Amino acid sequence: MTDDSEHRTSPELVADRRSVMLGISGFMAALAASDAAVAATPTRKIVDISVAIENDRPSDPPGLGPKVTYRGHKESAPGMAHFFPGLKPEDLPNGEGWAIEEVQLTTHNGTHLDAPYHYHSTMDNGKRALTIDEVPLEWCYRPGVKLDFRHLPDGHVVSAAEVEAELKRIGHELQPLDIVLVNTSAAAQYGTMAYLNSGCGMGREATLWLLERGVRVTGTDAWSWDVPFSFTAKRFEQTHDKSIIWEGHFAGIQIGYCHMEKLSNLDALPSTGFEVICMPVKIKGASAGWTRAVALVG
Ligand SMILES: [Zn+2]
Repeated sequence: MTDDSEHRTSPELVADRRSVMLGISGFMAALAASDAAVAATPTRKIVDISVAIENDRPSDPPGLGPKVTYRGHKESAPGMAHFFPGLKPEDLPNGEGWAIEEVQLTTHNGTHLDAPYHYHSTMDNGKRALTIDEVPLEWCYRPGVKLDFRHLPDGHVVSAAEVEAELKRIGHELQPLDIVLVNTSAAAQYGTMAYLNSGCGMGREATLWLLERGVRVTGTDAWSWDVPFSFTAKRFEQTHDKSIIWEGHFAGIQIGYCHMEKLSNLDALPSTGFEVICMPVKIKGASAGWTRAVALVG
């Protein structure tokens, strides 16, 4: 019978111990290196530019808002126990099951990205319009630029010249696929009945001006990319000019694009020097998808 520990004398055993020590010190060195790598990673602030999906906070026309039904831990305990025959609700920690919510939404509740299919059945002058599950994700993670239009009155239709002047003011040369965010006065009214009628809107001319320069994703903190419906309705009543109806949206018939609606916190963003991530929830064949839109600043 051999005794390994006795048999493996000095040089071998020492070498083994040494390799263990080296292993530990190598691990410590790797840990220190990874700490240094983390410390060296530039910290970018994440600004949440989305609104919450919540009950009882006006954000859509009456009756069209989100409805969240909350099922609490105590309430769900019997249902949870049912999955495990013989288990009683009181067998669960503190008699609590899982929390779960049932959510009733349209694809246009909360902060969401509209797909070209929302505007029309075709885009790019006749091609089948992209649905939200078909929108290239490369469009949804790009450098952002913010246009500050908070001073423009409610119902004002923003022109291409105003977009151009604002870009000049902030010293930004628009690049293809820049994500253009429009900060209107509507955000200040979010959660009140005034929200739906607040803020300026983007007209056809301004929208096409952006699209012709390669922009494919835009966004607004107002309820709609277009001016509030109440203003268009009044103008239409007077003029019967059908070209003003949903003109910013209908620009997508000519050049397909996406826009976000009901953004938030845009006033916390610089004019440039940030990136936007706005991946839409993948709903088969749908006209829009909710997004937890964020801006990476710095
Ligand atoms: Zn929408």
